[in-house]
Amino acid sequence: MTAQYFVYYLPLPLTIHGSVRLNDDGTYSIYLNSRDSAEEWHKTIEHELRHIEGGHLYSDKPVWKLELEADGIALPAPETSEPKIYASLEDLRENFI
Ligand SMILES: [Zn+2]
Repeated sequence: MTAQYFVYYLPLPLTIHGSVRLNDDGTYSIYLNSRDSAEEWHKTIEHELRHIEGGHLYSDKPVWKLELEADGIALPAPETSEPKIYASLEDLRENFI
């Protein structure tokens, strides 16, 4: 059997249920919160597998869109407002609202 998916159980902050990472060799590491229940682990695995099946780890879409997709939630309309533009981190920090 070729190992393809590695599942780790870690004591993550309570608000984080899991995460998935594409490794350099094409395998996947899935991280689950060891503090969660088995029921929550199953929900989290399904969520992380939707990231994998959706090709999200190869995507350049913003993370919030990928999270909505992985939860099966319809995406809102595309960006309609004009972006505010900043020249540098300093510019953004100093001039943000
Ligand atoms: Zn996610």
